[in-house]
Amino acid sequence: MAIVIGSGAGGAAGARYLAEAGHDLLVIERGPEVPGKDAGHYYANVDAGVRLMRTFCLGGTTMVSGGNALRCLELELKVLGIDLAAHYAAVEKELDVQLLPDDLIGDGTRRLMDAAERIGLPVQRMPKFINPDLCCKDGLCAFGCPSDARWSAIRFIRKAETYGARVITDTVADEIILRHGEAAGVRCGAEIFWDDLVVLAAGALETPGFLTSLSLPTSPLFADTFVSIGALLPGIGMNRDVPMGAYIPFDGGIILPHYSRPLHALMAARGTKAEPEDILGMMVKIKDEDDGSVNDTIVKKVTVQDAERLIRGSASATSILAEAGGDPNTFVTAPIRGSHPCGTARIGVSVDMNLETAIPGLYVTDASVLPSAPGAPPILTIIALARYAVEKMNE
Ligand SMILES: Cc1cc2nc3c(=O)[nH]c(=O)nc-3n(C[C@H](O)[C@H](O)[C@H](O)COP(=O)(O)OP(=O)(O)OC[C@H]3O[C@@H](n4cnc5c(N)ncnc54)[C@H](O)[C@@H]3O)c2cc1C
Repeated sequence: MAIVIGSGAGGAAGARYLAEAGHDLLVIERGPEVPGKDAGHYYANVDAGVRLMRTFCLGGTTMVSGGNALRCLELELKVLGIDLAAHYAAVEKELDVQLLPDDLIGDGTRRLMDAAERIGLPVQRMPKFINPDLCCKDGLCAFGCPSDARWSAIRFIRKAETYGARVITDTVADEIILRHGEAAGVRCGAEIFWDDLVVLAAGALETPGFLTSLSLPTSPLFADTFVSIGALLPGIGMNRDVPMGAYIPFDGGIILPHYSRPLHALMAARGTKAEPEDILGMMVKIKDEDDGSVNDTIVKKVTVQDAERLIRGSASATSILAEAGGDPNTFVTAPIRGSHPCGTARIGVSVDMNLETAIPGLYVTDASVLPSAPGAPPILTIIALARYAVEKMNE
């Protein structure tokens, strides 16, 4: 028997592998089940200095992902003694990870890739868990996928159900119940679900609250802080490109072709006449420092090192935008955001090498356990870690 709290990347993966291994399983999800195209209505962002992004619905934040499938922190985890190579390979196979084909690289993305190459930056095509044959090419991945082309954690939930898992939505897990110092169940309002194996995966902003209430240690927050930069290029139509079709690593982060909606409003506010299809955009995402906390209030700051990385990445991004034909007189930068909250219940602090807390039977499998800022898309790593942890639970 097992109970999983949360159905995002870490929860759904835990559920899928536990159910397959024969556990009688209950998944508790606070958000509703919604059609893929509507996921964008379920953002539960937090203004914490840096604006932190996540969604509350079945499938969690995977419902708004760009489908990016990079391995991140592989070396750091190996140094800690966690070798995920076999798990990554299995997950990449199941999610059918592949590079975007040429016809899904839009004109704006292509121009930015070519421009980066011309100025000597190492541009690489992004591996994706997107089925190219189903992709509707609306460029709106971050608002939900209407054609189900992009993998989301709902697929793992459905798989878990085929093994007999029960899933309840619109139900907030309030408390983890202990008996004789061991995990014994989960309270949701007045109802208690009893079980001696509890997997906590409520996301890096929620999971620490459960741990603190059990007097377990937590750790400071990372978020992979990012900025979006835009420039005018009339008629480029990048707003319909599959976002982040390529990436350019730099020391401290990555730069990605990416149209972001706030850029349009920012240009209008500056008096630049532009429709969404007239904007060429890039995202600069950094490995940020852990100057954040999720105690009574959620706070995430930008440190001097973060600022230096954002400025360095932005200098490269603006060079690429200008080289690609973007008008340098029209550059706008959107407010600083973070789309990968993580690190608040780290391996070695809150959980051991098996992702188990000091309370027997209580595990964590979401982005909270990541030991350092990924500075890159973490879903693949979260799933691989959950797969690894379930293997340990079954030993
Ligand atoms: C716009 C956007 C695009 C992204 N694109 C990518 C990408 O292309 N590739 C990539 O690798 N990463 C991407 N990410 C990041 C990625 O989606 C997250 O890092 C990942 O989903 C985090 O997994 P998680 O399990 O920790 O949390 P989540 O996926 O957020 O899941 C947590 C779940 O717990 C539920 N929950 C919370 N509290 C409770 C409670 N008390 N009781 C019950 N349920 C609860 C929530 O509703 C949610 O469903 C993106 C993020 C955003 C915001």
